[in-house]
Amino acid sequence: MRLRAACRKALASFVLTFGLAAGPVLLAGQGTGFNPALPLTHTESGPNSAWAQQQHYVVLVSLDGFRFDYAKRDHATHLLALGRQGVWAPEGMLPSFPSLTFPNHFTIVTGLYPEHHGLVANSFYDPARKARYAIADAQAVTDGSWYSGVPLWSLAESRGMRTAVLLWPGSEAQIAGFRPSWYAHFDGKTEATPEAQQARIDDAVALLRLPAADRPHFIAMYYSEPDHEGHEFGPDAPQTRAAEQKMDAQVGKLKAALDATGLPIDVVVVSDHGMIKSQDGWVTLDEFADLQGFETDGPLLYADTEEDRVRVYNQLKKASSQFTVYRLKNVPANLDANQNPREGDPVVIATGPYAIRAHAPEAGKPDHPPTAGMHGFDPHIMPEMKASFFAAGPDIVEGKTVAPFENVNLYPWLAHMLGLSVPKNDGSLNILSGTLRDGGADLEK
Ligand SMILES: [Zn+2]
Repeated sequence: MRLRAACRKALASFVLTFGLAAGPVLLAGQGTGFNPALPLTHTESGPNSAWAQQQHYVVLVSLDGFRFDYAKRDHATHLLALGRQGVWAPEGMLPSFPSLTFPNHFTIVTGLYPEHHGLVANSFYDPARKARYAIADAQAVTDGSWYSGVPLWSLAESRGMRTAVLLWPGSEAQIAGFRPSWYAHFDGKTEATPEAQQARIDDAVALLRLPAADRPHFIAMYYSEPDHEGHEFGPDAPQTRAAEQKMDAQVGKLKAALDATGLPIDVVVVSDHGMIKSQDGWVTLDEFADLQGFETDGPLLYADTEEDRVRVYNQLKKASSQFTVYRLKNVPANLDANQNPREGDPVVIATGPYAIRAHAPEAGKPDHPPTAGMHGFDPHIMPEMKASFFAAGPDIVEGKTVAPFENVNLYPWLAHMLGLSVPKNDGSLNILSGTLRDGGADLEK
């Protein structure tokens, strides 16, 4: 598996990146009477088409690292109420592999497995480009050429439907020819403050109160908790539980504010992955194999020659019980991660909650132990990786539960509620059609 060295730090970098990447900010309120609480960039894309104005609204919320069992375990009353009012997955939703933040957020909005949308990890090397993508690299993050697929906001915008993204991985790049009509930049210092969290709600509601021609039909928003606490203190710690409660209260406030608009809004709350208590210290691959000549990124290994790949594969094959090593093409098919050269070759996958890296930091640089909580692992063998799913609204049946399903299936389902037909993707509307009031019937257009 592709464990990032320190997901918590990566997340902080991600937030910081969004702050650094802001560039010239055109406040969204100009000319609309809308005065945003968040620093929003407005892309001038014209009014909603007449067709788009007839469609419902979808608000998609991600709570980073909110494990599937947290809500029930800690009596998250607002999330559970949302599930009772609509649908939820008591046994969780399966993240795509690797169960990391950027890959899964982009899977949720494209319906593609990470190796098909291109973000195979939070940071990786591309052997063809001879370049690196990292969530802390503002230039890479805002460069649409790193991403494949058609994110929901681009799909909607391409059909004349306005969208707003109050932070989401990939939302600051032009992808598939489009940008969201509004997208947010975050300051790393204020991102998790109560004010900044409330600002998402205030802006979402203000956007929905714009005239019908201007208001976005698809709004996505991201919260970095309780992932942060889960990493630092572990999934069972009181700090993590307190962060869950805080996010649950946030969902309650958001739901009440959306209800007050009187608009037909489907509210969907998901997470990207779960969390497990880590075991043991670092597993450092260069203690088992000579990685001379390899590019590396975290546990990912990239060689120039087939000879080097074979040699390191053989050196790692029986080196440790804490990981299994595969040639890329032989990575188990149910992980859907055996085709993209960005995944490296050979591929090292942890057999338990172990933190794996190619190298220790250079001499003189600090070497921190792995975080208390971790994710990134195979959700099929580690149920702690499963994510949350709750949803209710005018398109969704009441009081139904769903069995665990892969998160690639959210894309056609969310698009259906917006009246959008989807391009080819890895999900299927059949998986969740039973949760739709129209049963997932063919769209009229
Ligand atoms: Zn995450």
